Amino acid sequence: MNLLQVAKTFATEDMALAYWIMTRWPKGVRCLGCDNPKVWAITTKGKTGRKCHLFECAECGLHFSATTGTLFHDSHLPLTKWFAAIALMVESKKGISANQVARHIGCSYKTAWYLCHRIRNAMSETDEPKLGGPGVVVEIDETFIGGKKFRKGVKAGKDAKITVLGMAERGGRTYLKTIENTKALSIRPILDARLDPNTERVVTDSHATYTYTIPPEKHETTSHKQELRDDGFITGTRTIESAFSLFKRGIIGSYHKMSRDHIDSYLSEFSWRFDRRHLQPQLFDLALHNLAERKPLTFKRLTQQIF
Ligand SMILES: [Zn+2]
Repeated sequence: MNLLQVAKTFATEDMALAYWIMTRWPKGVRCLGCDNPKVWAITTKGKTGRKCHLFECAECGLHFSATTGTLFHDSHLPLTKWFAAIALMVESKKGISANQVARHIGCSYKTAWYLCHRIRNAMSETDEPKLGGPGVVVEIDETFIGGKKFRKGVKAGKDAKITVLGMAERGGRTYLKTIENTKALSIRPILDARLDPNTERVVTDSHATYTYTIPPEKHETTSHKQELRDDGFITGTRTIESAFSLFKRGIIGSYHKMSRDHIDSYLSEFSWRFDRRHLQPQLFDLALHNLAERKPLTFKRLTQQIF
């Protein structure tokens, strides 16, 4: 669903709520307290006098709403605006800034910022399997982000840059993560944690860390040039390079600058979308499903990461 379809499908709050209930409880609403499937839908008036849809458990009498215990809970924003924000985020290939979201859905920058982070959190994969495996070729490379404007001088500029390690399966998933520097101590733990040891081939540049970490019979070093070798193998790291370049264009075009503290969550948002680039029509539903499964991210927890 794109933004226009989302706006049409969820023209009213009740329509959005019905869709959310279906997403959260595909087999029917169950009590959040005792998991009993027998619940009554009731309508009350909230504190502000607005109509409030609740459920009452027939067993334990618990009152809960469709958003209780989810990311939407305690949000003053209507679901229709949440849905529009999700559509905007899953649709924009290079990412979208909180400022743009604020303008589109009509809310304050602060609200949009919080909203975007919560959606971004839901888009990140927590227990993704390792990259690679039998028959899969993985490309690994590093890149540098930003830095130019922070200080003066080449050395200082390089110090201010953020280093990102990227791994990409050819025709598959990606993994991007900030690293302290390009030394073995920074790169090795990520390879150990994220690269399947049964991967068919691993293509990297001639960085010494890779030579020590990856078994020579699986390792291909490349000079970044893409060519078809006589044995049928394509050299180069074009897959990961194109992910890097799309991400960088996103920074320039959408975010302008992004906080160093949050860059990993931007990277995982980007990977999430990049890995599903061929599933565009389903992205909205996929994101909504993730939101249904995630624990709420409080403002306190979010800002704790900064201060
Ligand atoms: Zn109950």
